Amino acid sequence: MQNTPIGRRPPYAVESVDTALRLLQLLRDTGGLRLTDAAAEVGVSRSTAHRLLAMLVYRGFAVQDGAKQYWPGPSLGAGPAGIPWARQLRELAAPVLEALVQRTGETANLMLRVGANVRFITTIESAEVLRVTDRRGVVLPARSASGGKALLATLDRAAIERLYRSSAAEVSGDVLDDAAFAALIAELEQVRRAGFATNVEETEGGVGAVGVALRDAEGQAVAAISIATPVARLPERLAQGMADTVLAARAANRSIRLSRMKSDFVSNVSHELRTPIASIRVFAELLRAGRVQSPEKVREYGERIEQESTRLARLVDKVLDFSRIESGRKIYHFEPIDLGALVQERVDRFRQRPEVDGFRIEVEPTPPLAPISLDADAIGLAIDNLLENAVKYSDESRDVIVQIRKEADQTGVRVIDHGRGIERVEQERIFERFHRVNQGAVHDVKGTGLGLSIVEHVVRAHGGTVSVESRLGKGSAFTFWLPSDGASPLEEPE
Ligand code: ADP
Repeated sequence: MQNTPIGRRPPYAVESVDTALRLLQLLRDTGGLRLTDAAAEVGVSRSTAHRLLAMLVYRGFAVQDGAKQYWPGPSLGAGPAGIPWARQLRELAAPVLEALVQRTGETANLMLRVGANVRFITTIESAEVLRVTDRRGVVLPARSASGGKALLATLDRAAIERLYRSSAAEVSGDVLDDAAFAALIAELEQVRRAGFATNVEETEGGVGAVGVALRDAEGQAVAAISIATPVARLPERLAQGMADTVLAARAANRSIRLSRMKSDFVSNVSHELRTPIASIRVFAELLRAGRVQSPEKVREYGERIEQESTRLARLVDKVLDFSRIESGRKIYHFEPIDLGALVQERVDRFRQRPEVDGFRIEVEPTPPLAPISLDADAIGLAIDNLLENAVKYSDESRDVIVQIRKEADQTGVRVIDHGRGIERVEQERIFERFHRVNQGAVHDVKGTGLGLSIVEHVVRAHGGTVSVESRLGKGSAFTFWLPSDGASPLEEPE
């Protein structure tokens, strides 16, 4: 298969069939589809979408699960793309694609690689009359499409061999002979060197494209962006710097990652707000309805309401602290403070929290220290956040140690736990705002991803530093150092 022509829209298109086919492509590429989303995607009313999906279910092309989401059915013969956040990625990439269309004047695509193929997840068309049109839902051989080549170039030789030279490749029809395979390897090497891939009329007559791979936080290539242009305009566009513009889109990785983290953050926070509110409501309801007879139960439910409201207040405070600190609105009041006494006081207060029940939290004795110029509330907040994490991520172990260390010109506070630990690659990222290890549904411990960035901000505002030493499965030690030479603290960094 050399050229895979992409059909032009027939002049007398049957609208409803086209809509049903679009729905099929959506099911295949994004998996779980809700009725409302399906209707919005293909631009029909909910009732039309419902009727079309009912036909797909009837013919076995779709199935509906208990949560009323539609999934690819057995007749479709293809699983979903297997990338659960394909839809989210598409939303996040949309502004990047828009910007590319504006800057280059050409059509932009977002695609995912599934095996030896790429699936076009979304297209934003150029406003030119002569332009490359919508490719949403199209599946093409990865080795012909520019984005596909960019994605293949991120794989190692063994993975490419599995795709094109293995017995599985023979079965799937993707197998390449010696010459074609050698040509592909050589082309991918070039792509690696240039950082982008091109395609001149390999997928469609008259169409050329430039593509780059997008990587996620782990450096894994997750998708590709391409700009497609009528081949007649390609030389002119390249001369105008189209390849550089597409390459610059890779810088969007960070914002894509950040907005992905932000949306996880919003759902984490709403979840955390909703849980205590729900229990407060239930306990209050029980008390109000007079259904609780025994005085112990009344007291117990009252206590639960108190605890849950404290949790709520703490969460709201944390978000407010973060927003004040991050926006530079936080004003620090520095005064000479005995750090040892401050640590002891915060630990004593922290021990009163109900979630700390059964934990041993010890402050190692330290010789008296000279007072240090600091903001006691802010440093207290940093200590609280480290203690909270030590407890939250302790798992089975219930032993937390706090040390105070004095060095020549700085004093450090170290919070040590013997819990789950943090993988090396994660250790730098945990200080970023919103970042949580194992983000999303798999995270089993509640949190916002704000605690450590609050700690870092506060400590930096004192001219200090914070660091972590940790081993997976063994535990973590977080240390912050504050200058103890009375030097004037730094301005809060932006
Ligand atoms: P949160 O705990 O609310 O998620 P933080 O910013 O305090 O946010 O921490 C970021 C991430 O760092 C956490 O989600 C967790 O994965 C990891 N982490 C922080 N402290 C510890 C610790 N003591 N042990 C293991 N992992 C930790």
